[in-house]
Amino acid sequence: MDKPIRKVAVIGTGVLGTQIAVLTASFDYEVFAYDTNEQSFKKGIENIRNLSRAARKKPTVDIEDWERGISRLQFCDQLEKALADADLVIEAVPEQLELKRKVHKQLDAIAPPHAILATNSSSIPISKIESATRRPAQCLNLHFYIPAMGINIVDIMGGSRTSAQTMATGKSWIQSIGCVPLEVRKEILGFCFNRVWRAIKRETLYMWAEGFVDFRDIDRAWMIFTGMPLGPFGVMDNVGLEVVYDIEMVYFNESKDPKDHPPEALKSMIERNELGVKTGKGFYTYPDPEYTKSEFLKK
Ligand code: NAD
Repeated sequence: MDKPIRKVAVIGTGVLGTQIAVLTASFDYEVFAYDTNEQSFKKGIENIRNLSRAARKKPTVDIEDWERGISRLQFCDQLEKALADADLVIEAVPEQLELKRKVHKQLDAIAPPHAILATNSSSIPISKIESATRRPAQCLNLHFYIPAMGINIVDIMGGSRTSAQTMATGKSWIQSIGCVPLEVRKEILGFCFNRVWRAIKRETLYMWAEGFVDFRDIDRAWMIFTGMPLGPFGVMDNVGLEVVYDIEMVYFNESKDPKDHPPEALKSMIERNELGVKTGKGFYTYPDPEYTKSEFLKK
């Protein structure tokens, strides 16, 4: 087969699922998406447009290609429709192990037997999910990083029984959508680059929550030092603060080290519905956060 993967189904169209679906559709794959909440897809599309406009770096694909992807993509109101004839299924539902296992069990029961099942989880290794399916050799982690902001890297990691063929197909599919695969050779929590990013999150959240510095100074320094259009706190706002919290809890639950526990101040923000871009307020206020203004780096 020229292109072993032709049809891709994305399950869960929040912040990341929508971006994965649209990016894939812009590379002329047939893409079907499903979410238990249809509004979430509409919000996801709006979020992509805002992110692409705000990004000082060129998005992974041109804005016109995002729009072409949006028009090609089909949102389904039933899981069965989204999964019919799928070659690759990417799950992007919230970061909770039991939910992911439940969804993978459903995907396994409905998707064609040859289909590869991937999770976009930021912290849960596929080895903790694969046993919910009858096809562990076809399960893997494919972890994306906000492509609407131009980040075209994808961690790829197998579980305890993932076949070499599944890994090879996953890698070439990642390349076929203009992304760079970061292959993890031995299972590790956080994959390749996500573990590096996680160390930055843990340290910067601690410095902010304990009152050592103003979070804006960390972001300014980061932006000047790296040339990135936003700093760690701006990135966390884009990711969603409840997502960040859940991910930090996965690390804490594994290590039980109090230093890995996310700060209470972050939990308080979540309780106030300050989740970042998606609710209009996080560390910054949206849609015009101060880090996008040129004065921000001069203060
Ligand atoms: P999100 O909350 O924005 O979206 C999750 C979506 O899943 C929601 O739209 C919700 O309605 C839907 N959903 C819930 N239960 C469902 C079900 N049973 N079937 C179908 N849809 C269901 O979350 P997100 O930020 O997009 O994160 C999703 C996954 O991607 C998580 O595992 C997260 O760790 C990972 N991830 C997130 C980011 C990020 O920057 N936000 C980056 C990389 C990976």
